[in-house]
Amino acid sequence: MVLTVMILLHRNMQIANARYKKFLLYAPLARQYTEDDFFHVACSRIGAGSEAVSATSEPRYEHLLFAGNGMSALACVEALLRTGRPFDITIIGDEPHGNYDRALLASVLAGERDIESITLNDIEWYQENGIRTRLGIRVEEINRPHRGVRTSDGDWINYDKLILATGARPPVPDMDLFEETRVFVFSTFDDARRLAEAARPDVRTLVIGGSLATEVACALRKLGCDAVAATENSAVHELADAHTVVIATDPQPNVTLAKAAGLRVNRGIVVNDCMATSDPHIFAVGACAECIAPLAEQAELLASAVSRIAAPPARREDDHSRIQPP
Ligand SMILES: Cc1cc2nc3c(=O)[nH]c(=O)nc-3n(C[C@H](O)[C@H](O)[C@H](O)COP(=O)(O)OP(=O)(O)OC[C@H]3O[C@@H](n4cnc5c(N)ncnc54)[C@H](O)[C@@H]3O)c2cc1C
Repeated sequence: MVLTVMILLHRNMQIANARYKKFLLYAPLARQYTEDDFFHVACSRIGAGSEAVSATSEPRYEHLLFAGNGMSALACVEALLRTGRPFDITIIGDEPHGNYDRALLASVLAGERDIESITLNDIEWYQENGIRTRLGIRVEEINRPHRGVRTSDGDWINYDKLILATGARPPVPDMDLFEETRVFVFSTFDDARRLAEAARPDVRTLVIGGSLATEVACALRKLGCDAVAATENSAVHELADAHTVVIATDPQPNVTLAKAAGLRVNRGIVVNDCMATSDPHIFAVGACAECIAPLAEQAELLASAVSRIAAPPARREDDHSRIQPP
């Protein structure tokens, strides 16, 4: 009996090896996966119905998928790591950088800091903690019945729990009336870099917003620009003279994804005391969520809720958490 199982296992491993290259072609996420992942997937495919292979399967941890790679997402991941429970974590972020401190963006604009000096979690940190990342890629759609998301590069990624950490961004007013005016939003590292590149001493720049606008105008003046800050109300009178307008107004929660998926949304995504949305498999944290608790507290609430209710799901032979299109 033992010998039969060993022979079966050996045969299946050979088939897995022979098909290894084929899986590289099939898997659009090839760069994300280690050899172990491929072996794991290969076994689950060819081993369907084979006791020998399913008996040796690695444990499958709950797959937590984050949409957004900002400070909220990372606060949650760090809180989850502190629980000591093993999870399979993937972060999808549309910015091509690791997690950084947005509060320091004005100093980036002024040329006093670069991306390294404002980074809080660099790529090595994610790797050391076993966090899979897909950066520079957007989550475009949530398929709730199949518990999967579609990404901007056309992939489908399955989740056991999805955490929306999509943050907030200033709303861009309709500037069609001012065709000659260049409009910038000030919210990300790339926004700051683009604005710094466009800054010219001879260009009058109007920065619209509250205290952040004052900070941004000050940074632009350090670059030699003729920049002034204005509130949303007073800006109307100043717009005619401005060649460049920077929007640094209060950000609005990014809720498009949640809304399209039919989750309950008011101004932000509606969550309960555990940060769960109206779908118990989807959570929301940070600036996109309708929650007044500080970020660190939200992260702790989410981590303890997810750890408490998480049970390693039964292994599904016909499924793998990351490459099963809905
Ligand atoms: C210039 C600036 C200065 C600030 N200064 C301060 C300060 O001094 N003090 C303070 O307390 N707060 C400050 N804030 C606010 C603070 O940065 C936010 O509260 C905090 O960043 C919220 O974190 P978050 O992770 O929820 O959202 P965000 O930081 O907005 O991160 C969300 C991330 O998700 C990404 N994303 C959105 N949609 C998708 C999608 N569909 N797929 C993949 N990725 C997606 C976004 O691009 C972003 O990278 C400042 C904000 C800005 C912009």
